[in-house]
Amino acid sequence: MFVLKFGGTSVADQAAIVRLVEIVRASGPQSVVVVSALGGATDRLLGLAAQAGAGDADGARENVRLLLERHLQVAGVIADYGLREDVERHLGEEFGALARVVSALAVLKEVSPRWLDAIAATGELASSRIVAAALESRGLPSAWVDARRVMVTSAEHTAAPPLMAETEARMRHELIPHLSAGRIPVLGGFVGATVEGVTTTLGRGGSDYSAAIVGACLGASEIQIWTDVDGMLTADPRLVPNAKVVPQLSFDEASELAYFGAKVLHPATILPAMAKNIPVRILNSRNAEARGTMITASRPATGRPLTAVASKRNVTVVNIASTRMLMAHGFLHKLFGVFEHHGTSVDVVTTSEVSVSVTVDDVRRLPRILEDLTAFAEVTSSSDLAVLCVVGEGIQGDATFVSRLLQALGPVPIRMLSQASERRNITIVIPDASLPAALLRVHDAFFGESADVGRGFSRAEGDR
Ligand code: ADP
Ligand code: ASP
Ligand code: MG
Repeated sequence: MFVLKFGGTSVADQAAIVRLVEIVRASGPQSVVVVSALGGATDRLLGLAAQAGAGDADGARENVRLLLERHLQVAGVIADYGLREDVERHLGEEFGALARVVSALAVLKEVSPRWLDAIAATGELASSRIVAAALESRGLPSAWVDARRVMVTSAEHTAAPPLMAETEARMRHELIPHLSAGRIPVLGGFVGATVEGVTTTLGRGGSDYSAAIVGACLGASEIQIWTDVDGMLTADPRLVPNAKVVPQLSFDEASELAYFGAKVLHPATILPAMAKNIPVRILNSRNAEARGTMITASRPATGRPLTAVASKRNVTVVNIASTRMLMAHGFLHKLFGVFEHHGTSVDVVTTSEVSVSVTVDDVRRLPRILEDLTAFAEVTSSSDLAVLCVVGEGIQGDATFVSRLLQALGPVPIRMLSQASERRNITIVIPDASLPAALLRVHDAFFGESADVGRGFSRAEGDR
């Protein structure tokens, strides 16, 4: 049994949905389909929620109307009149309810995270209905499944972690009967609900995570992430136009790349797959023939130290110095306790004898964090930075890798550098303005025409 997840661009319009139908047909009836909202719809929904929060009821309602119009247009792909009429009625009800919600919120001029989730969820609830009916109308027996009935999460709105035991029980109970009857279950990704039934979302880009959870709960033989690129590329193609497809990745490499900014996979996607040892494949819905990227527990050695480069922009570094306290027992515990207390995770950490530097992505609680740290240390912070992360199972066996990396970076000023022992990545913090050039330099040195593959003193990866 396969889980096929289609991202926003893979369901963006009628032509995309026709391609989706043919991909699912080729996959066979033992498939579960997980879909994102129509491309751009989640941004629109969050945009109109913000409009409502600012008191602009008319503007928000007009955007609801435009979004409904787009969905009705895309629903034209449903080839059967009765099925299309049914979906049109559901869409009218969903968006009608949304219009009433935004009207009320515009009066209150406040949109709580709970309402934000209810609004954002409309995108996946609507797209999944269109896709289920499109499959059915084109000869593939399907069943729409309300994701809120099967994806059980905590109540941490806008980034709610799934409750796995409960979710597994519900998924098996709701989805297996459809599969046994030869129907393809179709559900929206990204969306869930608390045990009490309050709508939640898993966080931006969370449909990949939903698909992996479905796969793990049902013991799928493969989780396929259908998107708009040919697979995991050696770098972000928006910054490195000549990035190439990486045919095979290990779970660990994929996790690191996703965590450090390879948007093609939500960072949590690999965890459920890894727990059940289910391969994850990244494929292009516009180029279904391409082989994509296969992600498994281990992969064959390639002879290259580096597998890919990932990057994250808009990163802030907090530098914490305390000559008196640094080496004292419990200092790091106290320091990280402050970040934990404010629910903020740190990504890269370096320490020197007198200071600790950490990077943070989410700066919403930074003022409070700085205030608390100031109570026992000297603290400074700087923004406009970027993280560049090079990932590869072959790094640890290559004695000259770091020097070649630094040479490739050339004049790029390095603010932090970290390599964990026995690990497969090196993270570097540099000014955000230097990121595009730095990525091109590193990519060219390790993947370009003249890349010196295998140079340096390298153990075979299999030797480890
Ligand atoms: P979907 O809507 O299918 O979930 P996303 O937009 O979330 O698609 O992810 C796909 C995009 O991720 C690609 O179009 C590409 O611009 C971006 N991306 C960033 N880094 C990488 C990478 N290393 N490999 C592939 N794509 C990447
Ligand atoms: N539609 C959601 C988003 O845009 C989830 C996803 O596409 O994965 O974030
Ligand atoms: Mg995505």
